[in-house]
Amino acid sequence: MAGETARAGAVGQALLAIGDQWTLLILQRAFHLRVRRFADWRDALGVSESVLSARLKELQAGGLLAPSPYRTDGRTRTEYLLTEKSLDLWPLLIALWSWERAWVPRRAALPALLHHGCGAPTDADLGCAACGAAPVTARDVATERGAATFAQVAVPRLHRRTVRPPAQDDPLSYFPETFEILGDRWATVLLAASLLGVRRFADYERELGVAPSVLAGRLRRFTDLGVLALDAADGRPRYRLTDKGLAFFGVFALLTDWAQRWYTGPPGTDLRLVHRACGRRLRPFLRCRGCGQALERTAVGFAPAGGAAPAGR
Ligand SMILES: [Zn+2]
Ligand SMILES: [Zn+2]
Repeated sequence: MAGETARAGAVGQALLAIGDQWTLLILQRAFHLRVRRFADWRDALGVSESVLSARLKELQAGGLLAPSPYRTDGRTRTEYLLTEKSLDLWPLLIALWSWERAWVPRRAALPALLHHGCGAPTDADLGCAACGAAPVTARDVATERGAATFAQVAVPRLHRRTVRPPAQDDPLSYFPETFEILGDRWATVLLAASLLGVRRFADYERELGVAPSVLAGRLRRFTDLGVLALDAADGRPRYRLTDKGLAFFGVFALLTDWAQRWYTGPPGTDLRLVHRACGRRLRPFLRCRGCGQALERTAVGFAPAGGAAPAGR
């Protein structure tokens, strides 16, 4: 291959833009609580001013937040508004909520998802916009890729991983397992490779071009999280996705879809998800599990779970 510089594919570029715990939390607050101002993010997230300032700069550079002046106390200050590009992330944030709610035990209950169309608390199923079928799961979709290796899907990380999640008792802030997957480049491509059918250590190693020690650590972490299960019954160890791992497919499909709308990678780095039943490229949409209508961004919201919500769910 002529190009020696492994420029990231569209999914890699998308992960570079949003695959960070603080970045996701900043966007989540902007979506769900309409946070627009520096001090409000700082106070809500307990994030240091230097970290917050750096993330807001990156979000602006990436076209995910737009600065807008406002007047207060006779002074002009800046607030940050979601853009068309970041507003387009709404189904991904809902899919993250849905996965955490279904699979991750938690101390503080997640807020409830409300569909204004039917007026009820609900959950969201992934569907295929081409044929209207829902739910569509990982088993209903063929994932293909071009000739490029996953090294081009992966990207260097901008930030050190944040080890301690913030505000564990805050239901909006605590998405621990999501951050382990989306906030780490190798974790994300490992999951992508698994969805493409990679099962063996040597195959992961070759596909990802990752050091064996790093790979072993991620595989161990994923088995600890219950996203992968190690099957070594016949002496030929294989990693397979569990139901919990397969359920992350919705997030992956929406991330891929968003990435391909907003980023362009080098030739051959494209991931292609095909809905087997209709044979067309999967354009995911979210459907209300209660009433069966397609969810629209302006017709969904979150309500505090309240004191009566059971703990651990
Ligand atoms: Zn379809
Ligand atoms: Zn509904």
